[in-house]
Amino acid sequence: MGIVSTIERALTRESNRSDETAETGTKSTGAYWCDDCNVRVRNVDVEAEGLDRDDEGTPVCPDCGTSMRFERSHADGCAC
Ligand SMILES: [Zn+2]
Repeated sequence: MGIVSTIERALTRESNRSDETAETGTKSTGAYWCDDCNVRVRNVDVEAEGLDRDDEGTPVCPDCGTSMRFERSHADGCAC
């Protein structure tokens, strides 16, 4: 089944992870917001959500069609 193989792949990937830099490469660095609709899509989910992009490559809101505002995630900013 597709779901099982997806989980297996995720688990395999988890155990195969050898360096930390690879992890940050796949992590969400922020999210796109539509202030009018209160819609939030993580930047790593834009493709999965199938959002259209404007001429500059900025995802547009699926509800109202305006360009969304990018906001960096503060959770990833720890430098300790
Ligand atoms: Zn909107």
